[in-house]
Amino acid sequence: MVCQQCRGGRRARRRAGDRHARHRGTHPRTGRVRRPACGGPGRTILNTHHHGDHNFGNHQFGGAAIVVAHDRIRQEMIETGLALTQLWPQVDWGDVRVTLPTITFSDRVTVWVGERRVELIHVGPAAHTTNDVVAWLPEEQVLFAGDVVMSGAAPFCLFGSVRGTLDAMRKLTALGARTVVAGHGPVAGPEILTQTIRYLHWIENLAAEGKSLGLAPLELASQVELGEFGELIDAERVVGNLHVAYAELDSPEIGVPLDVLAIFDEMVTYNGGQVPQCWA
Ligand SMILES: [Zn+2]
Repeated sequence: MVCQQCRGGRRARRRAGDRHARHRGTHPRTGRVRRPACGGPGRTILNTHHHGDHNFGNHQFGGAAIVVAHDRIRQEMIETGLALTQLWPQVDWGDVRVTLPTITFSDRVTVWVGERRVELIHVGPAAHTTNDVVAWLPEEQVLFAGDVVMSGAAPFCLFGSVRGTLDAMRKLTALGARTVVAGHGPVAGPEILTQTIRYLHWIENLAAEGKSLGLAPLELASQVELGEFGELIDAERVVGNLHVAYAELDSPEIGVPLDVLAIFDEMVTYNGGQVPQCWA
């Protein structure tokens, strides 16, 4: 398993004006390929979901590396390609490519890293996306949660489901993690799961109230006080999350695709005309 995070390059990040520069696979000064966190050549890589900031560097580990992910990721990666780079064109993305996973699974699979058991678990049909996988280390009680959990930042369900993320949270809570490594933000404890649940219940209640008052999601988001969630960065995600919650009020289905680009524009409006920075 390979850590998704890269260190260093703070100056390069400032220059780029976006923390996505963090995820480049090469060292900012030497241009050399970063070594994976385990210290040896990467052989088995987990892609937690299809978003490019979690897999654009797959090729950096060479053709012999095995990339593991959920069954639905390949189609999503093919369809979205390098689109993420267009959302933040000012970022120096480096050598990014779409390199598809080589092993995919539907529900769960166990990987052994020496004597260490790593359970890869699909969290449900839709949460942060439709293809989220977490890595659970039962002996160490450590959960690598991917973007289903955001630490210090607002949850983001625009590509998945609010209701489905709540289901995923119940499943993840039952694992009994002592340490939770979110897809973005600082390492946390299990309290990050309960905070995520509180946020999503707040979104669901807000959506029900807003819809009954005839307010559009952006209108509602612009009027509402964020309360305890005001400290979370990437607050504009409230607009995307409300759109999903509105759709789910009327539908037994979850993960139904929405007009992501139009909603992203609304997030920009909420953000005072600024493109979301994705600071987490
Ligand atoms: Zn993501």
